[in-house]
Amino acid sequence: MAGTARQMTGKEVSDNIKIDLASRIGYLASRGVTPSLHLVRVGTSDDDIRYQRSLVRVGEAVGVRFTLDELTEDVTQDELEVAIQRANDSSQIHGILVFQPLPAHLDVKRVNALIHPTKDVDGLSPTNQALVYQGSPYGIPPCTAAGVVAVLKHYNVPLSGARVTIIGRSLVVGKPLSMLLLGENATVTICHSQTKFLMERTREADVVVAAIGRRKLLGSEYFVPGQTVVDVGIHVDDDGSLVGDVDLEAVDSIVEAITPVRGGVGSVTTTVMLEHVVTAAERLSELNVTGEHHA
Ligand code: NAD
Repeated sequence: MAGTARQMTGKEVSDNIKIDLASRIGYLASRGVTPSLHLVRVGTSDDDIRYQRSLVRVGEAVGVRFTLDELTEDVTQDELEVAIQRANDSSQIHGILVFQPLPAHLDVKRVNALIHPTKDVDGLSPTNQALVYQGSPYGIPPCTAAGVVAVLKHYNVPLSGARVTIIGRSLVVGKPLSMLLLGENATVTICHSQTKFLMERTREADVVVAAIGRRKLLGSEYFVPGQTVVDVGIHVDDDGSLVGDVDLEAVDSIVEAITPVRGGVGSVTTTVMLEHVVTAAERLSELNVTGEHHA
């Protein structure tokens, strides 16, 4: 039997975020400010182009403006840094996104450290990592981690005191997500490739977040009734269909609620990025819809 778990779709979450963005962008527009995201793309990888297209499509629809630096695959570190510094210095640019991964000859740590923290809408600069670690409201978390929290909150999944098991400890998903969920008073367990008895860690949780990057690693034996499951993984299966880190077909009839792969967390990530751009525009122009000043 399949199809009994509540589907937590990303579209519903994104639509909700967009309603909030519309009023904030409208207020900024009334003060002559158009939130603006500068994209820095090195090379022409399919993943980057796909992400760029979806960001621009969704962003322009809500009133975010885009500019683009397209750099060739053999760009030098200096040339890339000059492009980023130019965007840092521009008062017309509120957010900067450097598509990653970068080619191996480029120093990604230096790149992430160079982006001005207020404009670092991808949340990868050391300053933002530290602020998120501290639980500061000024920290900008990576969009996927923030997207997972947005999904859980939108669907009113209880987090305070809940046992949450996160599988994956990357800097873009697992680690920052653990900090955000601690901030929601969850009891967080972080698992990774060296974790022993992973099945025990998932079965004891109220909420399981899979950010592993291994297709359909988690089958029905990892879950028990009543759980909420967020599947961050995205993979193309042998037959061309999209699958996650969780074997959704096998798990769907066991757990309480689950995110689909298509139209799941990934679709929220894009909207969260736009939200970060709007927040950056508010902070940099010291304007927001409530009239508060964010120096
Ligand atoms: P990563 O490769 O940086 O990290 C994977 C993590 O999984 C590591 O911490 C590793 O220790 C852990 N892991 C690997 N094998 C394991 C195993 N057998 N058992 C337990 N833990 C194991 O990956 P990432 O960048 O964090 O991405 C994770 C997944 O999320 C990928 O499938 C990626 O495509 C997807 N992703 C989706 C979005 C989105 O917007 N939906 C964004 C980023 C990443």
